[in-house]
Amino acid sequence: MRTGFTGLGAMGAPMATNIHAAGYLHTVWNRTASRARALADELGCAVAGSPATLAAECDLVVVCVAADADLLEVVDALAPGLAPGKVVVDCSTVSAATAVSAARRVQQQGAAFMDAPVSGGTEGARLGKLSMMAGGEAEVLERCRPVLEAMAARIVHMGPVGNGQATKAVNQIMAAGINQAVSEGMAFASAQGLPLERVIEALGSGAASSWFLHNRGPYMAAGEYPPGFKVALHDKDLAIAQAMAEARGVALPVIEMTRLHYRRLVAAGYGEEDISALHRLKRDMFDNPAHPPVERQQDGKDT
Ligand code: NDP
Repeated sequence: MRTGFTGLGAMGAPMATNIHAAGYLHTVWNRTASRARALADELGCAVAGSPATLAAECDLVVVCVAADADLLEVVDALAPGLAPGKVVVDCSTVSAATAVSAARRVQQQGAAFMDAPVSGGTEGARLGKLSMMAGGEAEVLERCRPVLEAMAARIVHMGPVGNGQATKAVNQIMAAGINQAVSEGMAFASAQGLPLERVIEALGSGAASSWFLHNRGPYMAAGEYPPGFKVALHDKDLAIAQAMAEARGVALPVIEMTRLHYRRLVAAGYGEEDISALHRLKRDMFDNPAHPPVERQQDGKDT
């Protein structure tokens, strides 16, 4: 399958590199052209002059852009080059409703669409070991599987278009809760005077172990939070999950609390840091214990 890639950011560039290593990458296009040029020079693939040309020259186009409006913009720009037999696979994290809308626009050109958001961070993208949750026709997934397997260690078909994104929303809620638990635990460990590397070692194969503890705990111990998965992007994903819960009349505590904390991080200028920067707020609680804990406030407002 001649494969094209658009959205060569923190995730997209290593994902495209792995598709190249598997022998499928044909052409790339990126909004900031210098990024496409640099990757094409490194890999020896072609650069398309426009998204429509990318779609015209490839059988499969993988998209990995930032947010909902970006996906729809890119899909509209791909559309003139799409035709029956071609497939667009979107690996961005957007709402299930946006995936359905993107699918409709692609299908109007006779092509097929799958939502295939991923989890595993930039490390998983670099190693080709992402977890992928796919929505769309089973037959389309099987056609694309060899290319997708270059990026993902696990690909699970979740049902029709939109179900991949709904599953990703579940993942983001769980990631928020794990971030809350690990960052809070690590700040508490510091306050107890514990050696943090040994805390990670001691807990790393027990019931409190997680990918996040192993991969982000050491950064918390060092007080550095390089991206990673940016605070601003996780907040965008939690806003999607929040809207989906609200549509059922529910405000989920983990989402509400984490979005509040992320707003404080963004306001303090840390929105581009990794989500483990939540540890900053937990640490501050111990550094400034005069601040009353959030739970004990009478008016329900955080300060
Ligand atoms: P980046 O900001 O690093 O990259 C975004 C890419 O999308 C860039 O290539 C950017 O182009 C392109 N883009 C954005 N808007 C548009 C647009 N309107 N038209 C055309 N191109 C556009 O983000 P990430 O790579 O980190 O994330 C990409 C997606 O993957 C997001 O949806 C994110 O939620 C998801 N994700 C991220 C993970 C992570 O750990 N970072 C983990 C799992 C999923 P340009 O170069 O011109 O800016």
